[in-house]
Amino acid sequence: MLFVGHGSPMNGIEDNEFSRRWRQMGREIPQPKAVLCISAHWLTRGTHITAMEAPRTIHDFGGFPRALFEVEYPAPGDPVLAEETAALFTPTEVGLDHDWGLDHGAWTVVRHMYPEANIPILQLSIDFHKSAEYHYELAKALAVLRKKGVLIIGSGNMVHNLRMVAWDKLDAPFGFDWALEMNDIFKKHIADGNHQPLIHYQNLGKPAQLAIPTPDHYYPLLYILGLQDKNEAVSFFNDTPVGGSLTMTSVRVGEEVGL
Ligand code: ZN
Repeated sequence: MLFVGHGSPMNGIEDNEFSRRWRQMGREIPQPKAVLCISAHWLTRGTHITAMEAPRTIHDFGGFPRALFEVEYPAPGDPVLAEETAALFTPTEVGLDHDWGLDHGAWTVVRHMYPEANIPILQLSIDFHKSAEYHYELAKALAVLRKKGVLIIGSGNMVHNLRMVAWDKLDAPFGFDWALEMNDIFKKHIADGNHQPLIHYQNLGKPAQLAIPTPDHYYPLLYILGLQDKNEAVSFFNDTPVGGSLTMTSVRVGEEVGL
């Protein structure tokens, strides 16, 4: 299981420290049967799961080079797995979706991990009318998928404040004090398995308010934490601040890297 900080859509086509780490991660972990991605960029009323044979690549951004709009990631879907997964949430109704596809929260990361596009990929939407606690609890329904060899990826950013980005400081790692402080707090609670303060992040003070002005990029993390077994190891990667008000900090849950 991974929480991945996806950052700029350009990471989808750039060869940089983040995309290189994603590629390496794809080789390090056992090849999954399928990937289920909870992306910050699919916010809905109710919960939905993509159930088409061939999900389209969605270019859900503006103002980027043409090369980024030309990317297609032709990984198959898995309608049977989608139906099975939707049933896991009973009595919560999860809709089978035939319109969405793969948004950039999913494909910019997964195309580096699985460049051959040979692993089926599904997306689960985020019901944006529900609380943090709801998402943390809802995630637990997915536990059985992990045992079946499905890789679950939450894709967002822990610290994500686009209004405060220092556009002149994108060339090298840079984080505002509050962003670095919040990054440390996130990591400490995650490393300690102390999830309650992370669910009730609104009580974490000013740095948390700045880090999570809206919870869209944060909720994917709560799915991964909700699914974590007690005592299951976590490790961090791409632990880098970008543009002052973003962090790429990512979490791997499960076997330790290199052991
Ligand atoms: Zn995003």
